[in-house]
Amino acid sequence: MGTPAFLGRCGDIMNWVEDWAPRAACRAEQPDKLFVRGAEQNKAKTLCQGCPVRTECLAEALDNQIEWGVWGGMTERERRALLRRRPNASWRQLLETARKDATVATTAPSVTV
Ligand code: SF4
Repeated sequence: MGTPAFLGRCGDIMNWVEDWAPRAACRAEQPDKLFVRGAEQNKAKTLCQGCPVRTECLAEALDNQIEWGVWGGMTERERRALLRRRPNASWRQLLETARKDATVATTAPSVTV
């Protein structure tokens, strides 16, 4: 079982990055590239693949109910679906816990009997 894509790259997987924006994969891009519509959103989402702070970015968008643009590799429509499922969640807490759990699951030694 692999790590969910939105949990970021393995190198940063254990520690939550508080000041994540300077490490964003999109920091050198024009902001307009992330605020597009339709099929262009899929192209925008490719910027997020491999972003070391993808989870932090997604948590920020969900916790602040940011309505526009691609954040954390998700479109506004995809984020709205998550918000409907858990309207009162602390997304930072959820995603941080999920990342820690995924790390434990993928780094735990396997026992062969
Ligand atoms: S996840 Fe995407 S939008 Fe968020 S910081 Fe990384 S590249 Fe930018």
